[in-house]
Amino acid sequence: MTRSISILGATGSIGASTLDLLRRNRGAWKVVALTANSRVAELAALAREFDADIAVVADERHLPQLREALSGTGIATAGGAAALCEASARPVDMTVAAIVGCAGLAPVMAAVARGGTIALANKEALVSAGDILMSAVERHKATVLPTDSEHNAIFQCLSGNRFVDIRSITLTASGGPFRAWSQDQLATATREQALRHPNWDMGAKITIDSATMMNKGLEFIEAYHLFPVELDQLRILVHPQSVVHSMVEYRDGSTLAQLGPSDMRVPIANCLAWPERMETPMASLDLAAIGELSFFAPDEERFPATRLAREAAQSGGAAPAVLNAANEAAVAAFLAGKIAFSHITVVVERTLQRSIPRGPTSLEEVLEIDANARVWANELMEHV
Ligand code: NAD
Ligand code: MG
Repeated sequence: MTRSISILGATGSIGASTLDLLRRNRGAWKVVALTANSRVAELAALAREFDADIAVVADERHLPQLREALSGTGIATAGGAAALCEASARPVDMTVAAIVGCAGLAPVMAAVARGGTIALANKEALVSAGDILMSAVERHKATVLPTDSEHNAIFQCLSGNRFVDIRSITLTASGGPFRAWSQDQLATATREQALRHPNWDMGAKITIDSATMMNKGLEFIEAYHLFPVELDQLRILVHPQSVVHSMVEYRDGSTLAQLGPSDMRVPIANCLAWPERMETPMASLDLAAIGELSFFAPDEERFPATRLAREAAQSGGAAPAVLNAANEAAVAAFLAGKIAFSHITVVVERTLQRSIPRGPTSLEEVLEIDANARVWANELMEHV
């Protein structure tokens, strides 16, 4: 049976991993929409290869090029933010939400509004608009399948168990490339060093987030929205080998963990095939070759990001959206060579010290808070 699928953020790292799985299962999937921000040549090539119904480029300035690249193919083209949401609203069996940042929120909401099944990698959408997004999921009877490796691990460990029996949930973190670096060394960390993740090959933004540990902070808030636990039931544990992807502890003292290779095709496959399983090209996990698994408590002195995220989650209201927006702005500035690595979390912390608006009640309010927080963060960056 062929199932239909749309991939938001098809040209990114998660997009590529998803398309690799589709390529290995030709005939199982009918591709409806593929989207990208600006990489039109890649998008057009993918749309042709997978015979998509429509290709959408978010940055409208690239639409003429996309039209030209796909002329004569019968593949529809569109550009801009509204077109992205329209494409996402097209009925499909599965939407893979793989846009990076709060830019992915409105398209995710469009997929939720038609009651779709969404493989959600785009954690920033949940961080910025957790309550709004999850209540829309409930209202429209949509299904969110956690695709982030930790959350997919938790999702698997929860299967067949009662939520009331959960004692705690532990998110594992690789610790990133600077896990063993001193505070002084961190102050000199370069873009190239920060982009060299020890275990995972990912997009630039999440790779920097892994180096600052903000990725785990965002994932902490993501887990809070996805799973029926209180903030004090969520823990973070540094696990440099990235073999145990996360764990759930039950009240009888049993802890269930999910293990696997550090390759996003495993959790993506779990979502694509859910509630069944599908083949992936991954070799079996060779624990004898890995030999040792180690675990450490996070050091929030050197890596304050997880504390900032926890505090933002505790404050609630617009704080998580502000945290996310300030972080997106600061990471972009770091990648552009404008601020130092250790200033990323300084900018986030100072932005959060502004007076934070009350909790947003609509998508429009979230987007407004997001835009304002970026302005604040950029102002602060002039002075760090
Ligand atoms: P990436 O940078 O490789 O790809 C991002 C995709 O989003 C691209 O297709 C790009 O064209 C599109 N995009 C970027 N800005 C956009 C905008 N303003 N409007 C519309 N589209 C835009 O990112 P990635 O590493 O694939 O990550 C995607 C999401 O998945 C992120 O939220 C990330 O945190 C999450 N995630 C990624 C990984 C991973 O291994 N890469 C693992 C877990 C979670
Ligand atoms: Mg993750």
